[in-house]
Amino acid sequence: MDFDAIVVGSGISGGWAAKELCERGLKTLLIERGRNVTHRTDYNDFATPWQVPNRGEVAQDEAAEHYAIQSTCPAFNAATKQWWVRDSEHPYATPSDRPYNWIRGYHLGGRSITWGRQTYRMSDVDFNANKLDGHGIDWPIRYADVQPWYDRVERFAGISGANEGLEHLPDGQFLPPLELNCLEVAFKKRIEEYYPTRRVTPGRCAHLTEPTPEHLALGRGPCQARDVCERGCGYGAYFSSLSATLPAARKTNNLTVVTDAIVERLDYDHAKRRVSGVRVIDAQTKQGRSYQARVVFVCASTVATTQILLASKSENFARGLANRSDTLGRHLMDHVVGIGASGTHPGFLDRYYYGRRPTGFYVPRYINITENADVDFVRGFGFQGYSGRSSWQRGEHEVGVGAELKQRLREPGRWEMTLIGFGEMLPGADNRVTLDEARRDSWGIPLVHIDCAHGENERRMAERANQDAVRMLIAAGFENVTPFGAIRPPGSSVHEMGTARMGRDPATSVLNGHNQAHDISNLFVTDGSCMTSTGSVNPSLTYMALSARAANYAADLLASGEI
Ligand SMILES: Cc1cc2nc3c(=O)[nH]c(=O)nc-3n(C[C@H](O)[C@H](O)[C@H](O)COP(=O)(O)OP(=O)(O)OC[C@H]3O[C@@H](n4cnc5c(N)ncnc54)[C@H](O)[C@@H]3O)c2cc1C
Repeated sequence: MDFDAIVVGSGISGGWAAKELCERGLKTLLIERGRNVTHRTDYNDFATPWQVPNRGEVAQDEAAEHYAIQSTCPAFNAATKQWWVRDSEHPYATPSDRPYNWIRGYHLGGRSITWGRQTYRMSDVDFNANKLDGHGIDWPIRYADVQPWYDRVERFAGISGANEGLEHLPDGQFLPPLELNCLEVAFKKRIEEYYPTRRVTPGRCAHLTEPTPEHLALGRGPCQARDVCERGCGYGAYFSSLSATLPAARKTNNLTVVTDAIVERLDYDHAKRRVSGVRVIDAQTKQGRSYQARVVFVCASTVATTQILLASKSENFARGLANRSDTLGRHLMDHVVGIGASGTHPGFLDRYYYGRRPTGFYVPRYINITENADVDFVRGFGFQGYSGRSSWQRGEHEVGVGAELKQRLREPGRWEMTLIGFGEMLPGADNRVTLDEARRDSWGIPLVHIDCAHGENERRMAERANQDAVRMLIAAGFENVTPFGAIRPPGSSVHEMGTARMGRDPATSVLNGHNQAHDISNLFVTDGSCMTSTGSVNPSLTYMALSARAANYAADLLASGEI
């Protein structure tokens, strides 16, 4: 064996798996298909506005030719485009009437550089949901199984937030929250009075407000409220693989990283019933090679992991590795987005705020929890909210000409607020990732085919979310209140999940309750593909907790000789 453990993918889940395995004393190889990135020096977070081409806009023809999908992501701009794949070089297929936005970045650190850093725990409302309403299979775990791992990952990552004592949005190990501004304080008061079943809390996010000695020892510092996070943060103030998990893994001297190495497939040894090797193609030379280890963690992100496992067909696994159940690739889910509303608020014109907070506020799910009347769908949605004063940079409202306009631009504009809904999507067997064997990419790997669409439950939920967002803003005294338009295509929230789900029964799931393949004891999958349902909260904190949990479980099994 070359290594004790191999981890495929260096994003949020792979970073956590590598850190935990290394800290357990295992010689670990981290394989990343994208280029190497050096923390701090490879970011352009100190670029001034005039150093960013076209004031941040990517030319329309360049976006259309090379970034047709990636440019639909709001964080894509001229200062960040190096963190997204060129769609022209990394194609995938969808049916023409069922678009899917597969948003991704291939480089060390994956999307841990560009993520929005909103971090919420799932609760037993989520872990019980499938069992209670019959959509999907039962999760093999409950909140109590993950709770200590949420504690562990929150302390290490550094999550700012406020404890609220809600069972359906569990409290955590938080650093002090980022403050609500005056309008948000007023909104919170009004909403909680008007709707006693709803809560408004500062957005929980992976930003250091008061770094601990553990954070400082990794070279991380407090958030400077610059709000250029998706360019990378030279202060290491938000959690990423590059600022946090990989430096911690390197400290153990157990980590080896290879970049520009595209995992093509895993080899399976039928006699030993184990994964026996990881085959890679060099991204530059296109030469093949392979690595061996005692245990393999696949953390390449939901769709890419599915691609690798489906491509790892063999005589014993004709439908893809660890896929006796035929559930691999099925039940693709993503949060329902494109829902919510915005409005403007009169008054508060003598009030401003300091800095550019990297978060806003959160209205946790209440539908089908604290409010059940008149609901014609299952599950629910939460709202992330943002507010501030409009300015010439942000405000399409600030139009005009001449001296009067120039004078007005010197003053901040009126107060605005946006409520952005994130709704749960149900698992459906026909929402599916498969391989198009007839079409290959530049490295000879079959293209991914994604066939996924929202259903009636998601549509009803979206309608209700728009209505509720409008009603809340009006109740809180907003004007010019406008609901969002249509629900966006799946993939748009970049929370893809479910294609190698966990379950109790090997006949209906790929992984057991420890993220270990039912069929292959030395194979673990800990990215979003393991998720049995989506819940309504941003999922990456859960991937972190499950990755840490699974890595420690695997280390125990290796230590006891069971795998
Ligand atoms: C703009 C934006 C905002 C977001 N906001 C939030 C948020 O607020 N909260 C939240 O919870 N989530 C958010 N997300 C989602 C979050 O980024 C993902 O859930 C998370 O990064 C998934 O982690 P991962 O490890 O599964 O995948 P990734 O972080 O994508 O990492 C996967 C890695 O695997 C590598 N890889 C892929 N294929 C192969 C292969 N064949 N061989 C070798 N390596 C491979 C990739 O190059 C990549 O580095 C956001 C994402 C984006 C883009």
